[in-house]
Amino acid sequence: MIIDIHQHITCSRLPQLAEVRGCGPFSARHLLEDMDKWGIDRSVVLPLANPENADVFGVAGNHEVITQCARHTDRLIPFCNIDPRAVFNTPKADLGMFIRAYKDLGCRGVGELCANLPVTSPLYRNVFDHAGREQMPVLFHLSGKRGGTYGMVDKPGLPGLEQALMDFPKTLFIGHAPAFWNEIDGNLKPYARDGYVTGPVETDGELWRLMTTYPNLYADISAGSGHNALTRDPPTGVRFIQQFHKKLFFGTDLFFVKSEPPPHLILMQEALRKKDITRSMFNNVMHHNFERVFGK
Ligand SMILES: [Zn+2]
Repeated sequence: MIIDIHQHITCSRLPQLAEVRGCGPFSARHLLEDMDKWGIDRSVVLPLANPENADVFGVAGNHEVITQCARHTDRLIPFCNIDPRAVFNTPKADLGMFIRAYKDLGCRGVGELCANLPVTSPLYRNVFDHAGREQMPVLFHLSGKRGGTYGMVDKPGLPGLEQALMDFPKTLFIGHAPAFWNEIDGNLKPYARDGYVTGPVETDGELWRLMTTYPNLYADISAGSGHNALTRDPPTGVRFIQQFHKKLFFGTDLFFVKSEPPPHLILMQEALRKKDITRSMFNNVMHHNFERVFGK
């Protein structure tokens, strides 16, 4: 069993926007065909809801994701998404009402959170609070800068995320994107936070401490960010999976028709084949963690 926790689909009625991405439309039908090709049993489909990146890249929002996933409940799992500014741009907004409504329609988590606001902002804290109360994990894209990009913003070393982990112990956070994964490295240069850093990891970064300290912090291995962090220095990547196999989710974030298998799949299969990780570690990352956290 393989569950991909990080996928997207494009808007079926806005193919011209999907073209902006340069890799064509990727509807639920494309996603299912691609999953069949690479042996992926189930995928979480993450809608986008923030003006920074919703619609502009043709990625489907809540309604289309929920509608499409409802046609394939055995294979596609919807999350819902909430912009922290929703309902009159106030940290007092009752977002729980929306989260419950989406949950009733089958949504199992909230994300991918991409609003380009500080993680410490009262608006984001309101999202974390309501998501936790409704027992809906949040999956976020972390960014090192404000403006000219998308993603929740934090400072080097992720002090804002740490504050949120402490203040919202009932909210399960799933980290993603370069500014999150680059903290695997204790010698990370502030200017490099949003890129793909290469070379050996000589000192373990804050990510190790946060993953060890906070039971409510998880990570997905998707995209260039997760893959790069786990492969730039192979022994370090193996050590990270060995140490945190109960807190990692398999994911790809590759929402286009692929002619090559997702590199995240190869990374995990190779680690198993070389006996760098055990079969049970492999299964935890590929599906057991998901089933434990989200149910079957
Ligand atoms: Zn994504």
